[in-house]
Amino acid sequence: MDRIAVRRDLHKIPEIGFKEFKTQSYLLQFIQNLPQDRLEVKTWKTGILVKVKGQNPTKTIGYRTDIDGLPIVEETGYPFQSDHEGYMHACGHDFHMTIALSLLEYYSTHEVKDHLLFIFQPAEEGPGGALPMLDSEEFNSWKPDQMVALHIAPEYPVGTIATKPGLLFANTSELFIDLKGKGGHAAYPHHTRDMVVAASHLVTQFQSIVARNIDPLDSAVVTVGKIDGGTKQNIIAEKARVEGTIRSLSAESMTLVKQRIEAIVKGIEASFECSASIDYGSNYFQVNNDAALVGEFMEQADKLSDVSVIECREAMTGEDFGYFLKEIPGFMFWLGVNSDSGLHSSSLMPDEAAMDTAFQVMSDYFNRIAN
Ligand SMILES: [Zn+2]
Ligand SMILES: [Zn+2]
Repeated sequence: MDRIAVRRDLHKIPEIGFKEFKTQSYLLQFIQNLPQDRLEVKTWKTGILVKVKGQNPTKTIGYRTDIDGLPIVEETGYPFQSDHEGYMHACGHDFHMTIALSLLEYYSTHEVKDHLLFIFQPAEEGPGGALPMLDSEEFNSWKPDQMVALHIAPEYPVGTIATKPGLLFANTSELFIDLKGKGGHAAYPHHTRDMVVAASHLVTQFQSIVARNIDPLDSAVVTVGKIDGGTKQNIIAEKARVEGTIRSLSAESMTLVKQRIEAIVKGIEASFECSASIDYGSNYFQVNNDAALVGEFMEQADKLSDVSVIECREAMTGEDFGYFLKEIPGFMFWLGVNSDSGLHSSSLMPDEAAMDTAFQVMSDYFNRIAN
């Protein structure tokens, strides 16, 4: 298959979580054009599961790609720029899908002993497709014994892959807090409950969580990226909304951060005589690589002539693939794509040659462990 053409087709039609309708039909059409003798196909919401039946199977090996884009206005200047204004494949999921299709095409005609399961998972960027998929009948009737996934990495050159045993990506949670007080005239503060002041104290108090509550040898992040409040410069704000994200290297620290946030919010309610609600939005569990499986993978991949393997550090990024690895042993790795702009940037321009590296590494891996 022409990987570049497929990637560019997919790049033009980015869709957000559980709205990947065109993407799903593009993928299905591609899959239906493959030799069908060994394939079984199921859809789940806007996702797809494709089983490649092994010759003499003793296990099922799962390979997962995410399929969603992001609400970002593309600024790459590509001639194959997004047709969906305001949306972009800015996290490389167009690469991930193309790599999965090229492996699926290969294994539709190359026999292996074990079953392979190709998982096209919706909504990785939110609200999260992995957790509901894990609960689905469609997934569980074909539940793999081990799983693999990759993610593009702008900071590494093409030909490089990077991963590590154990923790690779953090626990993450969104954070939305709504504060409600009492508005009024700027000159009569004593008749009001000012939510701009309350929100300011809230954000300031959050700064003590990582500094004073988290074990310094563990790590966490509490970032408030947005505050909304008030209507006009001379009106005291009745409402304010604080939006942020929480990251932690351990699941225990995520629980602790949330307990502290809840306690601080209660204190704000008491001291500013207001009411508050907390919504944690999408939560992702850490990506924890199985040490034995990833160790074997790194050692063997490094023997491929055009591939170099880097043992990287863990990152505070999140990935809902972590939910699969919570139940099923496996691993995830970074694929170097050499782009000056990073993930979720409007000018992310990954090098398409990296898809060849991914195909080489993954087909070598499947030929080895599925035989
Ligand atoms: Zn992303
Ligand atoms: Zn991504």
